[in-house]
Amino acid sequence: MKIPFSPPYINEDIINEVADSLRSGWITTGPKVKALEAEIKKYSGAQEVLCVNSWTSGAIMMLRWLGIQEGDEVIVPAYTYSATALAVYHAGGTPVMVDTTEDFNISVEGIRKAITSKTKAILPVDIAGFPCDYDEIMELVNSSEVKGLFKASSPVQEKLGRILVLNDAAHSLGATYTDGIKTGSETDVAVFSLHAVKNVTTAEGGAICLNMPAPFDNEALYGELRQMSLNCQTKDAFSKSKAGGWRYDITGFGMKINMADVNAAIGLAQMRIYPELLRERKRVFNVYNDAFSTEGWASVPPAVVKGKESSYHLYALRIKGISEEQRDLIIDEIAKTGVAVNVHFIPMPMLTFFKEKGFKIEDYPQAYNNFKCEISLPIYPQLTQEELDYIIKAVKDAYNTVVK
Ligand SMILES: *Cc1c(COP(=O)(O)O)cnc(C)c1O
Repeated sequence: MKIPFSPPYINEDIINEVADSLRSGWITTGPKVKALEAEIKKYSGAQEVLCVNSWTSGAIMMLRWLGIQEGDEVIVPAYTYSATALAVYHAGGTPVMVDTTEDFNISVEGIRKAITSKTKAILPVDIAGFPCDYDEIMELVNSSEVKGLFKASSPVQEKLGRILVLNDAAHSLGATYTDGIKTGSETDVAVFSLHAVKNVTTAEGGAICLNMPAPFDNEALYGELRQMSLNCQTKDAFSKSKAGGWRYDITGFGMKINMADVNAAIGLAQMRIYPELLRERKRVFNVYNDAFSTEGWASVPPAVVKGKESSYHLYALRIKGISEEQRDLIIDEIAKTGVAVNVHFIPMPMLTFFKEKGFKIEDYPQAYNNFKCEISLPIYPQLTQEELDYIIKAVKDAYNTVVK
């Protein structure tokens, strides 16, 4: 049996929505993007939502909006997809990496220790879709001790008066926080990824959620950022295409990262059925949990803890007490059965670019411990019980072959 790791969810309604955009005569940013923004806003509870062409470009733009300059520090976890830290470099800042905890997410204690007078933002990542401890993180940045250290170096930072919390919510659309609050609404800014492998996709895309505290006006900010995502041009292509609407101005130094309607159409049709898709992901997650939680050698990932609930984006299985080499051998054994698995994530300090920047994996022992024994199993709505039984057997057999 061949089981892919993460095929996109495409049905006739999704194809029809894309065809509708193609037939409408308008394929770039327009009504479908607006409709997708409205869906994500309603679903997540965010105050405003702006769609762009990727998580990465959205995060870079938000850090540029914050006024990140050379020497400014942005705290990120060592254990994440590299885009989290690369966005900081692109914006001109310096990423400061913090170790993770047992639950894969950034250590709040680690954040506290890493904060300096140069810290301008924190980018916690909801790894696998399991939310970080935002009550603690928001409390930390609002504490008088941390606020006292803060030095604003831009008008936006001046207005905020503290460290910005930007949630890398690439995995966590649909996750819930305490009291049913959804990811996307609990931090100043949260960015979802709508890349092809994510829970909801537009092939490539990102959604920026805005919940800036007073005196920021999120609606006005949405307008400002929308323009910034379109080269800071005063008229978008849609308004310019109307008769007599040719004159425009460039009001600042923006980026060109808007989402196209053909892309938005995919996500729009997926968002309409997302509660069902999420239930199916949860079904898969629980089948794995039932199969592995009774095995003494397996450690199952967190999903429902202290009022938080995952978006079931990844199933990050860990195998107790094995070495990196054994993990790799287990993956080779599983691959022989036709099942595609993955590893999330190679900690950034193990990758060449970051090593050359001076990061060392020895400084992030928990990130390494999570990585060395981790295997991500396929998790998506289309998986049948027969396929799940096959995957579970493949994993157990591989463990027995390599370790026992
Ligand atoms: C996928 C991912 C990103 C990048 O998303 P893009 O939309 O591809 O730019 C960022 N952070 C994490 C944790 C991711 O998994």
